[in-house]
Amino acid sequence: MLLPLPGGGSLIDNPGMRELHRWASEEAFDEVFAEIAALAEACRFADCQHGSEPECAVQAALENGQVDPGRWQSYQKLEREVQHQARQQALHATLAQKKKWKVIHKAMRNYTQATTEWARYWLRLATSACARQIKERVKLKSGPMLIPTRAR
Ligand SMILES: [Zn+2]
Repeated sequence: MLLPLPGGGSLIDNPGMRELHRWASEEAFDEVFAEIAALAEACRFADCQHGSEPECAVQAALENGQVDPGRWQSYQKLEREVQHQARQQALHATLAQKKKWKVIHKAMRNYTQATTEWARYWLRLATSACARQIKERVKLKSGPMLIPTRAR
């Protein structure tokens, strides 16, 4: 997102490296091929690929010799490069995202495992304490220890 500054110029709001790269290459692209970029504005469709779309201003200019075919080839070559770069950057972003989630999932798994182990430990302690108490009560009621305990 571009934010215009009061003194002129603009600031990119929260640019990821990917957006920054893309923005830079697309800007440079339109600058290098200013005449083609200007023609493209006149195409019928905003997302015109300047191929077989109807009412394409670039194709029309190529046909009447207004645009040099060599320039047009360089334009297409550079466009492919820009798109390739954008795809690579998108791929890297996806991989980075995947890696991030992998770390989060691993942390969650470790946490769950630790919590489960902790719960098991306390359950075992509680169970053995309980069992000990039951055993002692049984002993108190049925065993000969009952009398000396009461007498004390
Ligand atoms: Zn076009």
